[in-house]
Amino acid sequence: MRWLIDETHDAARTSWVASANGHPCFPVQNLPYGIYSFPGAAPRAGVAIGDSILDLRDCAVANLLPAPVSETCQDDTLNALMALGTADRAALRRRLSAILSDPAMESIVAPLLHDAAACTMHLPARIGDYTDFYVGIHHANNVGRQFRPDNPLLPNYKYVPIGYHGRASSVRVSGEPVVRPSGQQKPAEASAPIFGPTHRLDYELELGVWVGEGNRLGDPIAIGDAGRHIAGLSLFNDWSARDFQAWEYQPLGPFLAKNFHSTVSPWVVTTEALAPFRIAQPPRPEGDPAPLPYLWDTADQAQGAFGLTLEVFLLTAAMRAAGAAPVRLSSGPATSMYWTLAQIVTHHASNGCDLTPGDLLGTGTISAPTRDGFGSLLELTTGGSDPLLLPNGEQRAFLEDGDEVILRASADADGFVSIGFGECRAIILPAR
Ligand code: CA
Repeated sequence: MRWLIDETHDAARTSWVASANGHPCFPVQNLPYGIYSFPGAAPRAGVAIGDSILDLRDCAVANLLPAPVSETCQDDTLNALMALGTADRAALRRRLSAILSDPAMESIVAPLLHDAAACTMHLPARIGDYTDFYVGIHHANNVGRQFRPDNPLLPNYKYVPIGYHGRASSVRVSGEPVVRPSGQQKPAEASAPIFGPTHRLDYELELGVWVGEGNRLGDPIAIGDAGRHIAGLSLFNDWSARDFQAWEYQPLGPFLAKNFHSTVSPWVVTTEALAPFRIAQPPRPEGDPAPLPYLWDTADQAQGAFGLTLEVFLLTAAMRAAGAAPVRLSSGPATSMYWTLAQIVTHHASNGCDLTPGDLLGTGTISAPTRDGFGSLLELTTGGSDPLLLPNGEQRAFLEDGDEVILRASADADGFVSIGFGECRAIILPAR
């Protein structure tokens, strides 16, 4: 499918919401959706604009939105909004862009804004199902090498977008603390496993893909249609207990090492907003097999990757107490994904599995080829054997109680205004 660049992406367009102009994440060219509440109100839909949130329900009630989508903007989740077809999605975006950029609308729309700093963010959708993929090929190689030094990539990797069904119930919005999980682990020197708090708590830098329009059970999604089944992207942290993982993962894959908590950023950056930042999927290395025909689409190969920069920061309790800024652990592009988002959606539905609006797909950890862009501590510290030295003298092999991990992302392209994802952050609390 073609990705429309229209007046909503115009770099010259500014907003009468002054804080939006030059905002690192939420200029008028972004317009991500989220569920928020202001003091005394129940959760409701909003749009981030600069340092403010525009209330979508109030916009609908004031007849400011296109009639076909007006109702979907009045729920306490984004599921119905995510289910909209591409034409309705584009129409809503054009209207929001117009009312936030036209100075004549300020007197009508300004009363519908809330100060974002005074609001609480909630999960964007009622997540029916959550699936995690494994498309970061450098991550797969780095981790595979630690578990299987002679055979880091299993033979199916270059044919199948590897994934597993995660657990939707424990996905939480950015800001909700993570309780250190307890579980079975088998220390190398022990003859039998023990049960207790994880000693190898890690983060995973991922993109979260929100499913838009669903498909009926039994009906696959053609690769050329996959784009309209993706509502947008968030940042996603797939917290992982590496000691549980190493002990439990064979033969059926991740279980309690992963499902104790996952954190997603609150703003859904739409596929429409990301249109200018689409880039070609990097060609596969010489000698790799071509994707099977059901996963191959020339247009997807030409535009299926994104010009994103992904960053991870750490703020320890000692740094927080000293008033220090978070330290950056990694920064890298999102181009090290062996499969495109269209390919993982198409593969997921290829057996007739039905995806539903508001389902969440994790890409898998995205690591750059070099250490400065590795997306987990497992990789940055080589399995904990080479701890990081932080600027204040602290060391980290894995996460400690009081540590806060912060993910950020921005999209950049020549000739367009950069947009950001906001933050995906959470602090580690002691085991209970
Ligand atoms: Ca993962």
